[in-house]
Amino acid sequence: GTMALSTPVPPASLLEEMVVPSRQLFGPGPSNMADTIADAQHRNLLGHLHPEFIKIMADTRLGLQYVFKTKNSYTFAVSGTGHSGMECALVNLLERGDRFLVVEIGLWGKRAADLAIRMGIDVNIVAAPHGEAIEEYKPQVVFVCHGESSTGVVQPLDGIGEICHQTGALLLVDTVASLGGARFDADALGVDCVYSATQKVLNAPPGLAPISFSDRAIEKIRNRKTRVASFYFDALELGNYWGCDAEIKRYHHTAPISTVYALRTALAIVAKEGIDASIDRHYQNAQLIYKLLEANSLEPFVEKEEWRLPCLTTVKVPAGVDWKEVADDLMAEGVEIAGGLGPTVGKIWRIGTFGLNSDKTKIEQVISLLARAVKKRCNL
Ligand code: PMP
Repeated sequence: GTMALSTPVPPASLLEEMVVPSRQLFGPGPSNMADTIADAQHRNLLGHLHPEFIKIMADTRLGLQYVFKTKNSYTFAVSGTGHSGMECALVNLLERGDRFLVVEIGLWGKRAADLAIRMGIDVNIVAAPHGEAIEEYKPQVVFVCHGESSTGVVQPLDGIGEICHQTGALLLVDTVASLGGARFDADALGVDCVYSATQKVLNAPPGLAPISFSDRAIEKIRNRKTRVASFYFDALELGNYWGCDAEIKRYHHTAPISTVYALRTALAIVAKEGIDASIDRHYQNAQLIYKLLEANSLEPFVEKEEWRLPCLTTVKVPAGVDWKEVADDLMAEGVEIAGGLGPTVGKIWRIGTFGLNSDKTKIEQVISLLARAVKKRCNL
């Protein structure tokens, strides 16, 4: 018999207008997009091997070297969100038989450890980056999250690179939540691999993960016993595609053209302000946040000021207050703040002030909305 071909009914909901309200994004990311970045994304597409686009990729690489503060030739952006930077770093730097030391100060160390365990790597998790752990365990790679977005802690990195290099380990750093918003210098700190994301301080849409590999890291990758199990994340292939080596550029994948336009524009904005000026602005505005919190009887979650991530402030939820009701009050005003993550759920709010959102007037608005919503709950 003949089978009747079915004609699917188009989903009614899909045919409705897409709803995208305007929103002030003061959560842990994404942050608000700068207008010029949004405009850049609307530019016409070019072919990803056209000379004009190759120039845009080259400019993007220069911008990334500038914000990471590195001369690493292998500096480019992985097509994917921050997680793709983590995956790219791990699948290239580690192979079976390697030991991976993870400094776990929150969710992101756990995530890196989990990924390495999936890869069959020997993983050791420690709570602080102390030298003994590195000397005893002799890992091939040490992971540290610079800006821990689940707690609002910035991890000091001074001296860790030296300890790593003395024992032959590579230092891998996550700067997804901190790049451009907290002091960081890849080369001075002896960082061998660092990755980030576009949707935090850079105010670009999510979709690319800036990444940089030191010569030492590239040498380890070149001397692997086994091939990198991922083609898409292969650092040497990606490096060739981004023009990091002397070979003729090969097709690797189709770069997300519009997102590269956005990143290039975002980096130009940072370059115009100056990377150090951008970082200083985040520190100064963080001071303002602490002052305003205190004036409203609210407390930062991170006690020591030098441990606070300037671009992402965590605030203690006062006893008896439901964090969600307060966040909902702000959302009703079109302002997003977030609650905790993992062990901090219910205990903190997370207020991201990334890039253009690190602004005095905007900060005053957000903290006054927060203070008002908390007071309402306390007086009930
Ligand atoms: N690391 C850190 C420190 C982050 O804050 C995030 C995102 N919140 C990630 C990694 C993962 O990035 P993405 O969500 O863009 O994949």
